[in-house]
Amino acid sequence: MDFNLSEEQLLLQKTVREFTKQELEPAAEETDRLGRLPDDLLEKMAQVNLAGMILPPEYGGSGSSCLDCVLALEQIGYSGTGAWWLAAFTNSIPECIAQFGTKDQKKQYLPDVCKGKIYPSILFTEAETGSDPDALETSARYESGHYIINGMKRFSTFGARNGFAITYAKDEDDCCRAFITDKNALGYSAGSEYKLMGAGGIETADVYLDNVKVPEENVLGDKEEGFSILLHWIAHEKIQQSASCLGIAQAALDEAKQFSKSRIVKKRPQAGLLNIRSMLADMYARLEAARWLTYRAAFLKDEGHSDWMLEAAAAKVYAVPAAMEVVEISRRIHGAYGYTKDFKIERLFRAVAGASAIAVSLEINRSIVSSALIR
Ligand SMILES: Cc1cc2nc3c(=O)[nH]c(=O)nc-3n(C[C@H](O)[C@H](O)[C@H](O)COP(=O)(O)OP(=O)(O)OC[C@H]3O[C@@H](n4cnc5c(N)ncnc54)[C@H](O)[C@@H]3O)c2cc1C
Repeated sequence: MDFNLSEEQLLLQKTVREFTKQELEPAAEETDRLGRLPDDLLEKMAQVNLAGMILPPEYGGSGSSCLDCVLALEQIGYSGTGAWWLAAFTNSIPECIAQFGTKDQKKQYLPDVCKGKIYPSILFTEAETGSDPDALETSARYESGHYIINGMKRFSTFGARNGFAITYAKDEDDCCRAFITDKNALGYSAGSEYKLMGAGGIETADVYLDNVKVPEENVLGDKEEGFSILLHWIAHEKIQQSASCLGIAQAALDEAKQFSKSRIVKKRPQAGLLNIRSMLADMYARLEAARWLTYRAAFLKDEGHSDWMLEAAAAKVYAVPAAMEVVEISRRIHGAYGYTKDFKIERLFRAVAGASAIAVSLEINRSIVSSALIR
């Protein structure tokens, strides 16, 4: 058992930390206020090999591991913006094509992801379902070499940006299938973006599919495989989301350390108070526990371990509430100042709030883990 990161991984952490400091932190308040990422951010991420980093080198990726990607997302999450979604989606979504797609699909879509030219999306959630694939209403009807897709998809991140979306729809046999859909196809349109509570820059909109024609060659995986591809992506996304929570929680701990050293209470730094020290210790212990559970889930995914999806759910069950708690403790250490927009902790508090709902709720993750335990 080796808990050390390699030289390359330490260098990766350093590079992404610098990127976050230079490109994300200075624009964080504006990104948060506008709810939109800078238009050139994706290309800048591609320049430092963050877009498609886990894709094979023959398609322009770096062949990085899931754990490498977690290390990068953690650093991006530190900014408390939604920028980590860009790094997450440009890896986890095309990875489904790399893993389940045909050679032609890989050649067509993966190189542009790595160049930072296109925004991958996932179209699963609908007005009546976010947790239950059986309840999907979007339909895919076969017609001479094409599938005709009709339906409405809710909360599609980057659904309004140029690129492709992996769309989940039911075919004539009621089978949940995955379709690589070009977002500039006729009949594809996106509504206006939701105004979110936090993590500014997660550009999320409803998408309308009105007789969208998808060529047969763009079906991802076999007929029975659609649902497994979805589960694969969701499990990967849980690891990525836990990683971003680590970054947010680390930022909250660093803010608390800094604040408590500079805040004077009874003529002495607040950091000297016993209760503040025990709060800092609790934050640290929770963060480290969440960190190693997340790294382990990523490691097991890289190893192709049969339980990696279960471990991804377990990581999320622990990491998300732990990060929320760390952020809340930091906010309390900030006293009344933590309730103002003058301190970063306010942004971190809003940023971490979404993690319990997105990419499958905490409750459903708990039920995944507990079902496996008693099986
Ligand atoms: C910022 C943001 C970005 C998003 N991006 C995307 C995206 O890119 N693509 C996409 O497809 N979706 C996206 N989503 C949607 C998100 O993944 C879903 O909202 C999420 O899966 C939860 O679905 P829901 O809101 O329909 O909740 P519901 O499924 O209605 O659940 C609501 C509550 O009921 C509970 N519940 C539901 N079913 C059960 C059950 N069987 N047993 C026990 N409890 C249950 C849940 O635990 C939860 O507490 C995004 C959402 C947000 C907020």
